[in-house]
Amino acid sequence: MKTFTAATMAQALALVKQHFGSDAIILHTRTYKQGGLFGFGVKTVVEITATNDPSVGRRRNGRTPAAPAQAAPQRGRGDSSNAGDLIRRTYAAAHDELNKKAPPAARPPLPKQPAVAVPPAPVAPDSDQLVDELQAVKRMVRQMMKRQAPRVAVGKAAGEQAVRSQMPDMPDKLFDQYLALLEREVAEELAEEVIQQVCDKLKSTDCEDESLVRQAVLDVIAQQIPTDETAGLLKPTPDGRPRTIALVGPTGVGKTTTVAKLSATFKLKHKKNVGLITLDTYRIAAVDQLRTYANIIGIPLHVVATPDELSRALRHCAGCDVILIDTAGRSQRDDPRLEQLKSLIAVADPHEVHLVLSSTCSQPVMLEVVDRFAAVQTDRIIFTKLDEAVSFGVLLNVARKVNKRLSYITTGQEVPHQIEPSRPERLAALVLGDGVSC
Ligand code: GDP
Repeated sequence: MKTFTAATMAQALALVKQHFGSDAIILHTRTYKQGGLFGFGVKTVVEITATNDPSVGRRRNGRTPAAPAQAAPQRGRGDSSNAGDLIRRTYAAAHDELNKKAPPAARPPLPKQPAVAVPPAPVAPDSDQLVDELQAVKRMVRQMMKRQAPRVAVGKAAGEQAVRSQMPDMPDKLFDQYLALLEREVAEELAEEVIQQVCDKLKSTDCEDESLVRQAVLDVIAQQIPTDETAGLLKPTPDGRPRTIALVGPTGVGKTTTVAKLSATFKLKHKKNVGLITLDTYRIAAVDQLRTYANIIGIPLHVVATPDELSRALRHCAGCDVILIDTAGRSQRDDPRLEQLKSLIAVADPHEVHLVLSSTCSQPVMLEVVDRFAAVQTDRIIFTKLDEAVSFGVLLNVARKVNKRLSYITTGQEVPHQIEPSRPERLAALVLGDGVSC
């Protein structure tokens, strides 16, 4: 097992390939920034841990990667047994089978599916053999899905008839999109719903056109994502108070960094009068970090620990356009601290309470956090660390399940950049595989 670092994912993957060749199994990837402040002198580091020992890959698949230590739990690949996993397992089985049947010189092996998701190994477009083998795998998957009887009716006319099991009849382009959604960990029922809606939208002949199908899938996904269209607009509040925005969530998800990004955007870009309050008196480093940002942005920071201090700070900021409130991270399992947070939030009476969720967390963890933080009346969701997300399908699943508006996404550590208001089209494109930096 070896860890490689480079400035880009492509370079890091090249190092892995150079060292382990085509037997490489990726165990873990992460991207982080080194040095710099406010975008100056910051270096991106991409880190990949890999091995060529299949037994290590198998042992680790399904377990939380050991490194690096992070407060937020990382997603293990084997923690769900959905159709996406089925495809991956089928793919791996086909790979072994093909290698068994043919001598290695006659048949180049399929690239192994990574134990933890990374951008798929590039497939040489000129390799007819590889394409044939992938087609064979798709056929196998289709057969297996036939047994699972997904409920998708094809074509406008069929959509109006009784729903029937006909995955084998589904046009190839639609089926490819269905597989792509499952591979990105979109929940099976959601993927079926998306494909069904695409079927209802398109004429049967359009279902053969790859770009029309892709666009229709993008449109349907975009319609499924509830976003906060007012994010970043700082609309006047009904009660005339400064728009008061609190960020809550577990430790380490990026609340303080996001508050710094929002403060800088409102103050420096929108020229607004910003009040900044932190309730995070537990971590001296977090207060120092926010104070450094506040000094650079040119706004005062109010550090408060009690409801009285909070009331005073709010009065002090009464003339501002917007008040941003950073809160201490709370474990979703720490009831007393959640109660404490609830009473402080009640004093602040914010217009917006954004629950911050790290995209590196698993779906069950995200849902648990949403559930527990409902006590503080969260009404919006910010997804952070999209640059480190393993799969965007989970974000779609969570957004749909909790039905809270997505307000912002963050795509890196850099302050004040790497934050953007959530836009349905952008999120849909991410789900379908567009890169974060597009
Ligand atoms: P808090 O405990 O929720 O306040 O989290 P912090 O703001 O202190 O952030 C925890 C870590 O996550 C820090 O190392 C941040 O630089 C990092 N971080 C914050 N936002 C992002 C992001 O969008 N992408 C990445 N890769 N890291 C982020």
